Amino acid sequence: MDLIFEKSIEGRRGYSLPESDVPSAKPLAAKYVRPQSPTLPEVGELDVVRHFMALSRRNFSVDGNFYPLGSCTMKYNPRFTEVLAAMSGLADLHPLLPQLASGDRLVQGALAILYEMEQLLCEITGFSAFTLQPLAGAHGELTGAMMIAAYHKAKKNRKKYIIAPDSAHGTNPASAAIAGFQTITIPSTEEGVMDLAALERALTDEVAGIMLTCPDTAGIFNRDIDKIAQMVHKVDGLMYYDGANLNAVLGRCRPGDLGFDVMHINLHKTFSTPHGGGGPGAGPVGVGPKLMPYLPVSRVVRRDDGTFRLNYDYPESIGYVASFYGNFAVIVRAYAYILLLGKEGLKQVSDHAVLNANYVMARLKGVFDLPFDRTCMHECVFSACAQSKNGVHAIDLAKYLIDQGIHPMTVYFPLIVREAMMIEPTETESKQTIDRFIQCMMDAADLAARDPEAFHAFPKTMPISRPDEVKAVKDLNVNFFD
Ligand SMILES: *Cc1c(COP(=O)(O)O)cnc(C)c1O
Repeated sequence: MDLIFEKSIEGRRGYSLPESDVPSAKPLAAKYVRPQSPTLPEVGELDVVRHFMALSRRNFSVDGNFYPLGSCTMKYNPRFTEVLAAMSGLADLHPLLPQLASGDRLVQGALAILYEMEQLLCEITGFSAFTLQPLAGAHGELTGAMMIAAYHKAKKNRKKYIIAPDSAHGTNPASAAIAGFQTITIPSTEEGVMDLAALERALTDEVAGIMLTCPDTAGIFNRDIDKIAQMVHKVDGLMYYDGANLNAVLGRCRPGDLGFDVMHINLHKTFSTPHGGGGPGAGPVGVGPKLMPYLPVSRVVRRDDGTFRLNYDYPESIGYVASFYGNFAVIVRAYAYILLLGKEGLKQVSDHAVLNANYVMARLKGVFDLPFDRTCMHECVFSACAQSKNGVHAIDLAKYLIDQGIHPMTVYFPLIVREAMMIEPTETESKQTIDRFIQCMMDAADLAARDPEAFHAFPKTMPISRPDEVKAVKDLNVNFFD
């Protein structure tokens, strides 16, 4: 596809403005003036529309196709939330509009949304307070780890380590390390959950806390959470819940009731903001009583007369973790989504997410190896070990799906499963779509048995078939076509 610069025709314009009848201001100082005009593409409006339309069609998206990318919750985002986030009373607010003076009324609505969102998240998760500032899941983890550090510092605890299971999302140990901790990795058992005996051995007085996901990254609910919480609390460690994907437990169980002290939620996964490609997200962090004093500032508080203001007066706070109040538009979308669904609707989210994943698991069991053969939560993990004996690996099956118009599942993650294929159908897909995916997977297994060589050619329908993935990471030259 041509670059827009290559479509340029000298003198072509996409707009025309009337001749200005306003006298020019004083000319800019010479040091600010470019020596030459910039080389911009000279194109008509229709050229621009067609160019960007064509680009957008190259982008694989949930709006176009099924996207069962495990651990990422690529679900459909209702347009309703987009309409609300784009309302000019919200989208056009300037973050420096006065909050405390007479200008209060200019931002009262926005502050009310932040305040109510915090209340809703507390209700959904069982925590005492939330900060909405963190800009992504990993940023929420870092915020949580910093609060854990502040807690131990205030108590003069000498703590060095944060524990994470070997199935953890890679951001967990990374966030703990950035907050100044060393990490200890606990292996998983055959059943895919944390090995309690190994945890027992690792739990010394120097352990600051543990980062867990439940259901964990293999999509399995850990039945020992309360036992783990007791063990960790005994050494005055704190329990961190990675709630990036809350659609497995929404409305059914609350991390705050399970013994956790702090958690983050990815609004851009669970609460329906489009994500991927590094787009804006939000990773609000909830805390129980132990960590309340350390929450970032500012915090929205409600005055006796029902109006809202921002309060910065928390001497033990870890301070700012983001400019202004986080990704406000993401928070608005999540707020709208929660109010749209209501209590019963949120329960249906987790019912459908879990039902759909178990349906996929039940129907593909026997076609692919199933390392953890028990009820899964919102995602299920298969292994391509049997097919790999024939030379067809998880990556080959993933490439096969691309030609079927389906985004590949997550492969080679979690790391504890060989030839892992992690499938998250999400709650928003119909039985027909999921059935078509299952049929594709069955066809792929069939082809792997009959004609393994065929897989070398997939994908056939893409401009690039198989880029060298290691080179693609190290050498960021996106010009594939020269
Ligand atoms: C996505 C995810 C994260 C990281 O969230 P980001 O918003 O990408 O930083 C952390 N933990 C789990 C389990 C996740 O799925």
